[in-house]
Amino acid sequence: MILVLVDHDSGRLDETTLETLTVAHASAEMLDTDVEAVAIGEDARSTVDQLGQHGVGRVHLAPLGDPYAPGAWAASVVHVAQSAELDAVMAPGTDRGSEVMARVAARLGRPLAAQCTEISAVDDGVWHLTRQRWGGSLLEEAELDGGPALLTIAPHAVAPAQRPVENVEAEEIQPMLAETDRAVQLSEHIESEAEGVPLADARVVVGGGRGVGDAANFNILEELADLLGGAVGGSRVVTNNGWRPHDDQIGQTGTRIAPDLYIACGISGAIQHMVGCAGAKRILAINTDRDAPIVERADYAVIGDLHEVVPAIIDELKNTKGKG
Ligand code: FAD
Repeated sequence: MILVLVDHDSGRLDETTLETLTVAHASAEMLDTDVEAVAIGEDARSTVDQLGQHGVGRVHLAPLGDPYAPGAWAASVVHVAQSAELDAVMAPGTDRGSEVMARVAARLGRPLAAQCTEISAVDDGVWHLTRQRWGGSLLEEAELDGGPALLTIAPHAVAPAQRPVENVEAEEIQPMLAETDRAVQLSEHIESEAEGVPLADARVVVGGGRGVGDAANFNILEELADLLGGAVGGSRVVTNNGWRPHDDQIGQTGTRIAPDLYIACGISGAIQHMVGCAGAKRILAINTDRDAPIVERADYAVIGDLHEVVPAIIDELKNTKGKG
């Protein structure tokens, strides 16, 4: 069996859990086994139906009270891991998935392969995998021996696939917690002040870099994003300059995005930026420099001044919408 740790916020599933389930199912097919999930927290039961839409027939629910404590979550995962025949435990490579799995690995005395993007084969208990290193700027091929294999799956490495099951069994577990399992726990939950579609989930992202010039010039990027039902992000230059809040930063030290379309305006395409948008299906670069690295990586490029090109796109979109 492959056990997947569910990352959720008050019962709202994080998309990365669905991506992890997709990787788990592909591996389960190689091993001819099932995928089960462990969902932890007061609101964990709300995730059951959605997990059923993504191929989970059995969910282990650990109804731990708030606040979130990574040690208590790890104890719950270990509880299930020790009571079942396990091939692997997988978790999304989110902040939460990573910190819980590090503790699971320490408790089980097993190695952890973090930020995997692909499992190509499992032969005689050896997992052949590709994983991200250096914040995603390198890919490493690795082998992980012995079981259960412990893995985190890099966010946005695969698209989540639906595979509904008819009946989902949900059973409560009661892990034994030690006092030290709550030595680290959440003390405050601060909601992002950003309005509209969250950057990480947006289907269209309009990104701005140094070429935008200043904070006020982001108005045209906001207008374009609004017309396309998308979100605005930026490079680190933009957040360092205080033109946008840090929440809006795309890249190695910011948010990883995976939109259908990423429109990168006045962004050079440094490696630390590109790892943040590697999951984008299409990139349109708008840049005055035809030799900028992002132009080479982009599917489409407009070589020109973004202050002219973006308003022209906005006008064209308004005209088209007006006619529709
Ligand atoms: P620049 O590199 O200065 O590029 C500006 C671009 O705008 C140029 O290509 C220029 O031709 C174009 N341009 C200028 N004027 C116009 C115009 N009017 N119209 C159209 N195009 C124009 N960066 C990130 O973005 N995200 C990260 O998470 C991140 N993490 C980092 C972590 C580390 C450890 C380090 C060392 C760096 C990190 N960086 C990150 C910084 C990264 O290396 C680059 O410095 C940064 O991405 C550059 O931002 P930029 O593309 O906006 O600026």
